[in-house]
Amino acid sequence: MEKEKCVVVFSGGQDSTTCLFWAMEKFDEVIAVSFDYNQRHKKELECAAEIAKEQKIEHHILDMSLLNQLAPNALTRDDIDVEEKEGDLPSTAVDGRNMLFLTFAAVLAKQKGARHIVTGVCQTDFSGYPDCRDVFIKSLGVTLNLSMDYPYVIHTPLMWMDKADAWQLADKLGKLDYVREKTLTCYNGIIGTGCKTCPACELRAQGLEKYLQKKEEAK
Ligand SMILES: [Zn+2]
Repeated sequence: MEKEKCVVVFSGGQDSTTCLFWAMEKFDEVIAVSFDYNQRHKKELECAAEIAKEQKIEHHILDMSLLNQLAPNALTRDDIDVEEKEGDLPSTAVDGRNMLFLTFAAVLAKQKGARHIVTGVCQTDFSGYPDCRDVFIKSLGVTLNLSMDYPYVIHTPLMWMDKADAWQLADKLGKLDYVREKTLTCYNGIIGTGCKTCPACELRAQGLEKYLQKKEEAK
């Protein structure tokens, strides 16, 4: 049987690192792809590179600095603060970002002979990003197949999970501690438990606490 290869959209954060381990269990060969869009923290890319190296995963970093040109915002420009208003898109949003990332990942995947693409997008807490929703991913799958005449399958293991479920999946894969200690979600660029005060750290900590409590109760 032909080897099944997959490309994982990989940021070095909790979700995509969990997806990386999920993919490593499921596929014969895994390739990680990250995007350089002049993130506020270069740390994010360094963290992704470090994890890929440790896991002996082929890793590509694609230059997407044009995103900065299209949508200057808090993630990409140092002079705007990260803030979230109730009911509003977070100021870290770049319209269509996931669509662009997945499309470039697909071009790379075809070149690598990989028809599987894995992404950590999630509808449960999609924070208003329309291109994280399941219906969009299904639609893009069809579009990618048609645009490149290639039988892509997009996998979204976290689509219907909340943060606690994502921690549970990492644990199930035997990687709970690794994901806790080595991944970066913090807006202030601190790996692991992070700064503990930014919205990303709060969300991450709440999910972990919820999962650990559930695990304790199940004993
Ligand atoms: Zn933080």
